[in-house]
Amino acid sequence: MDMIGVLDLQGDVVEHIDHLERLGVNAVRVKEPSDFAHLTGLIIPGGESTCLARLLSILGIRDPILRQFQRGLKLWGTCAGAILLAKEIVGEPPVLALIDIEIQRNAFGSQLDSFVSEALVPLVAPQPIPLTFIRAPKITRAGTDVAVLLRQDDYIVAAESPDVLVTVFHPELTPSLAFHRYFALKCGLKPSVNEESSMIDPTWDSRSWTRYTRL
Ligand code: GLN
Repeated sequence: MDMIGVLDLQGDVVEHIDHLERLGVNAVRVKEPSDFAHLTGLIIPGGESTCLARLLSILGIRDPILRQFQRGLKLWGTCAGAILLAKEIVGEPPVLALIDIEIQRNAFGSQLDSFVSEALVPLVAPQPIPLTFIRAPKITRAGTDVAVLLRQDDYIVAAESPDVLVTVFHPELTPSLAFHRYFALKCGLKPSVNEESSMIDPTWDSRSWTRYTRL
């Protein structure tokens, strides 16, 4: 039980794996029920939630996630992943319903309304963290067992329950390892990178959203 899996159905899988590996955390792609062995945490990446929800059912991955969650698996959903984990999706039925939040899809507008910003998230890192919002949802309600990590205006963009972390932005598309480090700690793992250096990556092209565009 010392690995974090990244659900490898659709979306930004390779970027999450890369962030975990840079933290010194064992990372594994999760595509089928047998891939759940030895996982202490699972990241459900951003992508397209309708597509991910269909693939979860078609490939028989939905029930293994629910079963492993009952056995203590920690979950982190980024953007579309957060939509899949929400108990309530405005105007649509829920998918996994594992954290008591209400979420509204595409709440900032179209793809063209995507943007970057930064914010201090005191529980996660001592310096401001870069935030990347891509056709992001907004969390419009959080239940009593859900702690708000970051609120902007009248909506929430990062929250957690004891077992589930949700962010509507994409830390895997920034140089910062801070949220991945935070999730690894939540999973009971010990990342090899400390809080301070989790913010610094000299190999990253600051004009890019990923390290992979130049390869
Ligand atoms: N808008 C997408 C959805 O509703 C999520 C976008 C993302 O994951 N970047 O599924």
